[in-house]
Amino acid sequence: MNKTSLKDHREIGRELELFFTDDIAPGAPFWLPNGLVIFKELEKFIRELTLGAGYQETSTPIMVKSDLFKQSGHFSKFGEHNMYNLSLSDEEEGKKSVSYTLKPMNCPESTILYRFKNRSYRELPLRYSEIGRLHRREKSGEVHGLLRVRQLTMDDAHIFAREEKIAEEVGNILDTMVAFYNIFDFEYEFKLATRPEERAGSDSDWDKAEKTLEDVLKHKKLKYSPKDRDGAFYGPKIDLHIKDSQGREWQLATVQIDFHMPNAFDLKYTDENGDPKRPVMVHRAIFGSFERFVAILTEQYQGAFPVWLSPTQVAILPITDGQLSYCKKIDEDLKSASIRTRLYDKNETLQAKIRDATLQKTPYIVIVGAKEVAAKKVSIRTRDGKDLGQMELSKFRDKVLGGIATKA
Ligand code: ZN
Repeated sequence: MNKTSLKDHREIGRELELFFTDDIAPGAPFWLPNGLVIFKELEKFIRELTLGAGYQETSTPIMVKSDLFKQSGHFSKFGEHNMYNLSLSDEEEGKKSVSYTLKPMNCPESTILYRFKNRSYRELPLRYSEIGRLHRREKSGEVHGLLRVRQLTMDDAHIFAREEKIAEEVGNILDTMVAFYNIFDFEYEFKLATRPEERAGSDSDWDKAEKTLEDVLKHKKLKYSPKDRDGAFYGPKIDLHIKDSQGREWQLATVQIDFHMPNAFDLKYTDENGDPKRPVMVHRAIFGSFERFVAILTEQYQGAFPVWLSPTQVAILPITDGQLSYCKKIDEDLKSASIRTRLYDKNETLQAKIRDATLQKTPYIVIVGAKEVAAKKVSIRTRDGKDLGQMELSKFRDKVLGGIATKA
């Protein structure tokens, strides 16, 4: 496709009624029912992957006292310009003013979860995931549809592990990234981001962390390029970059090794000999931000999402009202198999119905006339006008379910 004829995700978002932004909340999208279907399908998929990989899902508060981010080191680095801080007078604090922050990341709060009780080496690696809603103060000139937002949803996770286990954890995460990004046919590349000028922690910890990441990449025979001095302030990272349909490059997935935060929050576990030890933290995200990911997918597919993500998967079109009752049966049958359908039961011409279903990018269009009713079959067309001919309803249902299951 010619790159200049490609539509922007904001335009497609409005046409297909997926999402939009409004001046009332700059940088924070409104999700319409169709868009939320996509959001929830992605959420379901990442939950399956995450739970399957031995994570436990958690949730932490959106608004916390700024002290937490002062302790983690985020406040001095990002506090004034990149975080939302509110000064509130708090009854419990004797009405004195207390500074609160809308969390820009989940990391420091995951240490509070860890510290909930004394931890033993038997519990490690402890893998806590969180689909968290975050707020970041992007400048108004930089806010752009769903690609750059101020309120984002991240598929985050933090792993607390013994030092000798972190390479294995990083390796498993890279495997998940590869499996995940292959489904979407993205061109991707790994980048190894090393220690920045401004950083926390000792050089010996940075040496160990950087070497571990590099060793895992080599061991997995994954191609990567360096991104010197671009690590987080608390640790180096491997980022996965993709190229979108317009040739722009985005950093989406990330895995990071962190010796700093366990020190800053004095995290401990008891080893086999009953001695206190310090765990290491591994941070990871697979999509990065749901908002950005959906924007990129929307542009990549130009709204023609694969069946498993399509808000409507099957459009059912009676040629005349005479086939309406048979079409209702088809609709019920497919709905009971959890297929998302739309029955075109308004009195319109077949041409108008086909045109609408095509504009909505519905993957399958079922057309039912007197012939289909007599033969107890359905005629199928795809959104790109391909005629799949007549088939039994059960065969068609299995075809749709197969596409959903394989995420084809
Ligand atoms: Zn983190």
